[in-house]
Amino acid sequence: MTAPLRIGILDGDDIGLEIVPASVAIARAAAELHGVAIDWHPLPVGARALESHGHTLPPETMAALKTLDGWILGPIGHRAYPKGPNAINPHPILRKSFNLFANVRPTRSYPDIGCLHDGVDLVIVRENNEGFQPDRNMLVGNAEFRPNDEVTLSMRVITRTGSRSVARAAFELARQRRKHLTYVHKDTVFKLGCGMFVEECKRLAPEYPDVLVDDVIVDTMAMRLVRDPQSFDVIVTTNMFGDILSDEAAGLVGGLGMAPGLCIGDGNIAMAQATHGSAPDIAGKGIANPYAMVESTRMLFDWLGHSRDNPGAVRLAASMSRAITAALADPQARTGDIRGKGNTATFTQAVLRNLTK
Ligand code: ATP
Ligand code: MG
Repeated sequence: MTAPLRIGILDGDDIGLEIVPASVAIARAAAELHGVAIDWHPLPVGARALESHGHTLPPETMAALKTLDGWILGPIGHRAYPKGPNAINPHPILRKSFNLFANVRPTRSYPDIGCLHDGVDLVIVRENNEGFQPDRNMLVGNAEFRPNDEVTLSMRVITRTGSRSVARAAFELARQRRKHLTYVHKDTVFKLGCGMFVEECKRLAPEYPDVLVDDVIVDTMAMRLVRDPQSFDVIVTTNMFGDILSDEAAGLVGGLGMAPGLCIGDGNIAMAQATHGSAPDIAGKGIANPYAMVESTRMLFDWLGHSRDNPGAVRLAASMSRAITAALADPQARTGDIRGKGNTATFTQAVLRNLTK
């Protein structure tokens, strides 16, 4: 018998408290339908963990995560945290501690929800641990400093290993999709930093003769995403370019509520994390669009199915996918940000209703 999948539930803050339970309810129901054994592990994180455990990322949570196959992380409202050593933003620690170097962010258009283009189906693979947002304990201390009141220096870290790792993740993904990989950079200006990223992308290309490889300069990419997003399959890029381009891509297909993500690394563990933040402006109203979080959860199970050789998890993910598509097609069920009349609960119920074997 296949061992139960060990999955963490980290609600996060604000709308996380609404969209994470919705995602777990859907995954639980799909797992039951397909006979997939899952051990669920709710773990404290964020503002509520600060109150209950005195830390936004308690040591108990970190220790428990190390025993899991993956987890669902809700958005974190770290900007509202009080200042102090126990009120840290957990994101960079989680990504770095578990070597989650690739952030896989799909963008797909669905009918009638206000997409700017039909037929978009692309994935941005964003480097997760380097760039202008390197982890504090990586190579540099603070990545920004001010030698005098007039001047600020911002440091951008690019490493060969980091570049090669994220490029390989993107090549592998392209191979499973339409076999087209575009690497995005600006080596015309950042000859050393982007230059190194480009060198590593080029170096891997001969290992993937079945993948069509091309490159686009980041400013051109910003324009082309608006004009002809259908011409891309997998896009790989450095941290900040990926951050900006993936929000742009979300804007093409209905906004941040439509922007899921999965953080992956060397294959041991994965973290489902929507691209959007904790949206405190709409928290507690029951109107947040759970799609991004639900779809991130679906991606986690699909990834686990393949990496753990667990066909039930692949089927679970496929049935979630069909149910999500059906719920998005129902204007009474889907949320207001994507031209719906529904709310978090109606969307969740519609996905649950549409789950089939
Ligand atoms: P962060 O720095 O954490 O990325 P942000 O400043 O980008 O945060 P978000 O919290 O992502 O801000 O949200 C920006 C706005 O987008 C929110 O105020 C909210 O109105 C909208 N939004 C984000 N996520 C959702 C969602 N799931 N459903 C509906 N609206 C959302
Ligand atoms: Mg943001």
